[in-house]
Amino acid sequence: MGKPFVKRRLHLRPVVWKSIRQDIELSVLSAIFFGLCAAFIMSAYDSGVTLLYTSVSEYGLWYLAVSFVAVLIIQDMYFYFIHRAFHHPLFFKWLHYGHHRSGDPTPWTSFAFDLPEAVIQGLFFVGIVFLIPLHFITLIAVLMTMTVWAVLTHLGFELFPSRFWFFPQWLGKWFIGSTHHAIHHHKYRVHYGLYFTFWDKLLGTHDPNYEVKKGM
Ligand SMILES: [Zn+2]
Ligand SMILES: [Zn+2]
Repeated sequence: MGKPFVKRRLHLRPVVWKSIRQDIELSVLSAIFFGLCAAFIMSAYDSGVTLLYTSVSEYGLWYLAVSFVAVLIIQDMYFYFIHRAFHHPLFFKWLHYGHHRSGDPTPWTSFAFDLPEAVIQGLFFVGIVFLIPLHFITLIAVLMTMTVWAVLTHLGFELFPSRFWFFPQWLGKWFIGSTHHAIHHHKYRVHYGLYFTFWDKLLGTHDPNYEVKKGM
């Protein structure tokens, strides 16, 4: 078991404790800001100005799934464009350097954002509750998906081989995983997406060697 696992390691250098500590410090700051966003959303909900709802029957069961997928698609698009802008020399140092400081990502890097980046990321959720009717279950499901996905893409090793369980290989090419995002942390100029490879492929920021690296 050990050998294939080691083969799939994505780190170029050994991980150092100093990087992990810096990532934890930034994550704590980001978490505090995200907590403030949650507080704002809850008080806006209490005032009745958001589109959040609590009764499933209001839009039907099917809408839970549709709105869940819709939010992931919209968030992926939002993330692609802000992330690409973060890498512009004008913005990188004060908006996004913190996330890349460790070089090779670890799970601790997942939410290691400079405060201005945390603000822009948090604004997505502050905005979306005013734009699309969302059940609280959907909102929580999106937040959980985002968290698990962020940890998976920053693992530092590939958990899912190109042929995984029942997942067809052609479908796997449209989802972002650890190898895909590790390439972003190494190269900076490719792979800006969050969940799906769609925008990278459409706008020419997809590493042409990715499929070879992933063994697809
Ligand atoms: Zn980046
Ligand atoms: Zn990252």
